[in-house]
Amino acid sequence: MRAAVCREAGGPMSIEQVEIAAPGPGEVKVDIAACAVCHSDLTFADGAWGGALPAVYGHEAAGRVSELGDGVEGLSRGEPVVVTLVRSCGKCWYCRRGEPVFCSTTFALDEASPLRDASGERVVQGLRTAAFAEQVVVHASQVAPLPAELPLDAASLLACGVITGVGAVLNTARVEPGSTVVVIGIGGVGINAVQGARIARAERIVAVDLVPEKLELARRFGATDTLSGSSDVALAVRELTGGRGADYVFASVGAAPVMEQAVALCRRGGTAVLVGIPGNGTRLDLDGIALPNDGLRVLGSKMGSARIGEDIPRMIGHWSRGELLLEELISSRHRLEGIDDAFAEVRRGEALRSVIVM
Ligand SMILES: [Zn+2]
Ligand SMILES: [Zn+2]
Repeated sequence: MRAAVCREAGGPMSIEQVEIAAPGPGEVKVDIAACAVCHSDLTFADGAWGGALPAVYGHEAAGRVSELGDGVEGLSRGEPVVVTLVRSCGKCWYCRRGEPVFCSTTFALDEASPLRDASGERVVQGLRTAAFAEQVVVHASQVAPLPAELPLDAASLLACGVITGVGAVLNTARVEPGSTVVVIGIGGVGINAVQGARIARAERIVAVDLVPEKLELARRFGATDTLSGSSDVALAVRELTGGRGADYVFASVGAAPVMEQAVALCRRGGTAVLVGIPGNGTRLDLDGIALPNDGLRVLGSKMGSARIGEDIPRMIGHWSRGELLLEELISSRHRLEGIDDAFAEVRRGEALRSVIVM
């Protein structure tokens, strides 16, 4: 099968024939139909999170089950599924607490990648998925069934951007109806935090971005107010909130200035939710008096605190009732050969979601 292999940090992807193993016990093979480009793919491909090469990235995917390993139940061949990077055992301390994104079990796939290149060398299964490829082998916990009427390119977005953005609002922060919510950074995650805030019935949803077109888009997804990131955002947020600041601020971008700004925009007793993950070595500069004295809460949200088995059906329910826009998130489609163009779009910050279709 063909895959986009990263052989050099920051370099172009190499489209190659790659051998993929049969699914082992508890694993499934999926024929990938679509895989969106997430910022985490870029961060890895640029080497900012380290990791061995060669590697195949791509972790926001959908396709059809083509092969079932021993002991896999509840899935059948040909069934459409979303493929995520959340690999969980259901049995460890974290899984039993309902926090599968922190699952502590080491799986066979963690010890040996199912991928080899034409020379027989192991290729890293990037982000536990490696879905910039025609096929993946993943643990069955990483997939969730999809309804036949949901197009697979739109469904791929559920795997990361949607559950991360919407999940940060509904699961991690549990935003209450009537809240004032600020979302900084309207990319593939931030736009979904905006939709999540609308689903949570936030009264005021303020989108902040440097790109005017993205602010326009944010309105379509539920933003009630928009602010240019180059304006005095702190002043504008105070003006919109009776001088107090926001109830909830979501930092969708993993950059120290944005994460610090998220805390600064909160009202007393407000909550900053840090969603975007920065590169290795990032430190934050926060006001040590303000945190306790203003009763601020700072929450990290990994993958929207998602539980795949529950959140994916819930998101599909929101989609089928017209509350969650999916097709509208796709800003461009590319073939696997065009993956460098897709990466360039994401790098320029133009794209909501660029999707690779196989
Ligand atoms: Zn992602
Ligand atoms: Zn576990």
